[in-house]
Amino acid sequence: MARSLDVLGAGVIGLSIAWRAAQRGRAVRVWDRAVGAPSQPGASASWVAGGMLAPFSEAWPGHEPLLRLGVQSLARWPAFAADLAANAPGETVLAAQETLVVGATAADLAALAPGFESARSAGLDWRRRARSELREIEPGLAADVRGGWFLPEEPAADNRALLAALAAAARGAGVEFVAQSPAQLPGSGADDLVVAVGAATPTLLPGLPVRPVKGEILRLAATPRTAPPPKRTIRAFVRGRHVYLVPRRDGVVVGATELEGDGRAGVSAQALVELLSDALAILPGLADYELAEASAGFRPVTPDRCPLLGWTGRAAVGPGSDRHCLVATGHGRDGMLLAPLTADLVVALLENEQLSEQDQEALRAMDPARFSCG
Ligand SMILES: Cc1cc2nc3c(=O)[nH]c(=O)nc-3n(C[C@H](O)[C@H](O)[C@H](O)COP(=O)(O)OP(=O)(O)OC[C@H]3O[C@@H](n4cnc5c(N)ncnc54)[C@H](O)[C@@H]3O)c2cc1C
Repeated sequence: MARSLDVLGAGVIGLSIAWRAAQRGRAVRVWDRAVGAPSQPGASASWVAGGMLAPFSEAWPGHEPLLRLGVQSLARWPAFAADLAANAPGETVLAAQETLVVGATAADLAALAPGFESARSAGLDWRRRARSELREIEPGLAADVRGGWFLPEEPAADNRALLAALAAAARGAGVEFVAQSPAQLPGSGADDLVVAVGAATPTLLPGLPVRPVKGEILRLAATPRTAPPPKRTIRAFVRGRHVYLVPRRDGVVVGATELEGDGRAGVSAQALVELLSDALAILPGLADYELAEASAGFRPVTPDRCPLLGWTGRAAVGPGSDRHCLVATGHGRDGMLLAPLTADLVVALLENEQLSEQDQEALRAMDPARFSCG
């Protein structure tokens, strides 16, 4: 009989793990009261995310372990996307293939440089481009953008298409969905349990150092009268503030704020004004787009910004059980990017597979015990 697996959480991480485990023959159930569109604002970071698969343009000095994890996961994305396309043919998961990173002023450009210096350690060709070169690539860029970089290796996913594709592929592989979010680890009798509940982790596994960091985004819709959406992701630093524009088939996602200690699920007037004004400063043609949505999500963030992935010391089915649960959380700003690597490593741990040296190194970087509370 197939060994059974319960996965708590139907965000990008839980769904990726469930799908991959079911493909390997596990009898999988996913528990989440909100599968697909979330039932309440702020319920799922995956529903809100921009979808950038961006280890290089997210790089920052001091975060090299996260950069290495991102590069490893990006390398797995083409096969992951192709397998999804084969198993959920109705969804177009990739939204863009390339990225531009631009500075609005000379000071903005200078402020972006340390990130690119850091990304060189992972092999990025970081030649800076003049404004004219960038506008040849993306003609809608504002005429006064100072300069930037072109990253042909950084794609973006459509987060909602990705969730739909993962849910469809998982169902196709036999995964069952249970429309409940247990308030504590369920004694369900499954052989193994994976907790992948994002920012809600501390409610199920108290003491794990995952904190919610709020992010607000806007969705702008193109109309028949507007310029079409950009063809690639545009990330910008605009007079000291970050903004990004991630294309969708019918518009763009404009993001995002990063707010510590704000547990409110709504979007503030200030975020709305700042995101819009920075987006228009970079791509003036967006002025005629329609505001389709403003929403917020909570990124699950750890102290060193690397995820928590591995066995915990906690009993899977209550005190006295000799089985432990596996946690996969804390993906911070990079859960879309890190989903393929996370799913592969979780399945390898569940099946007790031989791991490559690189995978072992990745697991060490994400070991929940590194904060001495796993
Ligand atoms: C504004 C914003 C922009 C972002 N942009 C990007 C980006 O461009 N690229 C990128 O890679 N990442 C991005 N991220 C980060 C990314 O969204 C997260 O890292 C990722 O979604 C985390 O996935 P998750 O499955 O761990 O958590 P979530 O997506 O939060 O999913 C957790 C799920 O667990 C469920 N749950 C909660 N409690 C329980 C329970 N007790 N039992 C069962 N289920 C439960 C919830 O309902 C939810 O569905 C962004 C995030 C935000 C907020």
